[in-house]
Amino acid sequence: MASDDLSFPPSRRHSAFQQLEAFLSSVESYAERRNYLEPGHGNVSRLSPAIRTRLVLETEIIEATRKRFPAHRVEKFEQEVWWRLYWKGWLEMRPSVWSEYREDLSGLEWSERALEITSGKSGVSIMDHFAGELIETGYLHNHARMWWAAFWVHVEKLPWQLGADFFLRYLHDGDAASNTLSWRWVAGLHTKGKCYLVRRSNLEEFVDREILDANSEGLERLEGVSPLPVIPVDPPVPVPLPGGALPPLKGRFGCWIHDEDLFLESSPLSSLQPSAVAAFCPTGLWERECYSKEKQIFLSKALEDGAGRGGGHFGILSAFLTVDVLSDAIAEWAVEKKLTAVVAMRPFVGPLADELPAIETRLRKSGIELILVRRSDDVAIMNKATAGFFGFWKKTKEDRAFLT
Ligand SMILES: Cc1cc2nc3c(=O)[nH]c(=O)nc-3n(C[C@H](O)[C@H](O)[C@H](O)COP(=O)(O)OP(=O)(O)OC[C@H]3O[C@@H](n4cnc5c(N)ncnc54)[C@H](O)[C@@H]3O)c2cc1C
Repeated sequence: MASDDLSFPPSRRHSAFQQLEAFLSSVESYAERRNYLEPGHGNVSRLSPAIRTRLVLETEIIEATRKRFPAHRVEKFEQEVWWRLYWKGWLEMRPSVWSEYREDLSGLEWSERALEITSGKSGVSIMDHFAGELIETGYLHNHARMWWAAFWVHVEKLPWQLGADFFLRYLHDGDAASNTLSWRWVAGLHTKGKCYLVRRSNLEEFVDREILDANSEGLERLEGVSPLPVIPVDPPVPVPLPGGALPPLKGRFGCWIHDEDLFLESSPLSSLQPSAVAAFCPTGLWERECYSKEKQIFLSKALEDGAGRGGGHFGILSAFLTVDVLSDAIAEWAVEKKLTAVVAMRPFVGPLADELPAIETRLRKSGIELILVRRSDDVAIMNKATAGFFGFWKKTKEDRAFLT
């Protein structure tokens, strides 16, 4: 069962930064401690839900860290934050990997065994403990994610796509890039000739003694695990993201705020003067994706926080709406506000971006344009995710130079 009830910061000023501050007092021991699974997970930041929704930007986290510590003392933490940007860039430039995953997923059935494991009845009690923790708290430590995914793929020989979907349903930080690509990496599909295997001895080294002793049943199934054979496939050729400044805007336009970027006040949209601002909780989409109630509540609260700050910044009362069909809701709002264009940060590859064609079509029917922009930092950094992480880390040195 779950070790601790964790709650995550759904607001920028009042909780994400407090959590960051609290974590920074121990960040220097991160490199040494981060792989250990401890009750309460105080050795890692637990900031991922706030980072994933961009209540805080990756660069802000690094900046705050560097203000306190010289780079060499916090490099491991910085690298992990950069891993997220690497995965993001890798998938943004190869969106077919996401669409293939979604297609595969739609053709798969949840077998009885898959359902047993996701409901915490696998018979390997530490894995059942992790499944319970994920469902109850919306979070799993990185090492637990690796072990659980490796158990699913290599021990139980279940399709990685179903396991990845289970994670996305519950993880408050659920992210198309980090999740899909990490699952592919565990399965041996990401790096040729490499996969991640779960080993009993590894759990014995890194899991808190009390947690493991209370969940020792079935550990023998994690001995001598052999990898699931995979046929290596070359990844698609990366297509660089276009830069593209915001075009001049004429007439009345509105800003759409969504959960992929909740920091509009510091974005390419910040200098605009919109006639309307709105954030939508797309419950139809969330239900279709089978997001847990707790995840939906977290996302709603984060959206409300982003809408409040965004409205305050633009000096307009922002709308915060719970809606069923997102494309209809955006179009109805835009028509009601007599807008000629809706402007937004471009959602990253994932479930929300999959809605864009419908949104665009629906708006166009009413003669309204959809204008999507990216942060120039994102474009510069993500376009460097052409090969492996360490090459990316070297190539992005100049992008981190402003932090030194
Ligand atoms: C199978 C699997 C699925 C995953 N699914 C997701 C997901 O849906 N969303 C998600 O954000 N992360 C995912 N991760 C990556 C990682 O596990 C989480 O980002 C991390 O555990 C979040 O906890 P934290 O904030 O305490 O991390 P910390 O250790 O405090 O790291 C700080 C930040 O760095 C980033 N980060 C750290 N490790 C990684 C990593 N391995 N890959 C990418 N970014 C990283 C995160 O933004 C994190 O908040 C997955 C990993 C695996 C193995």
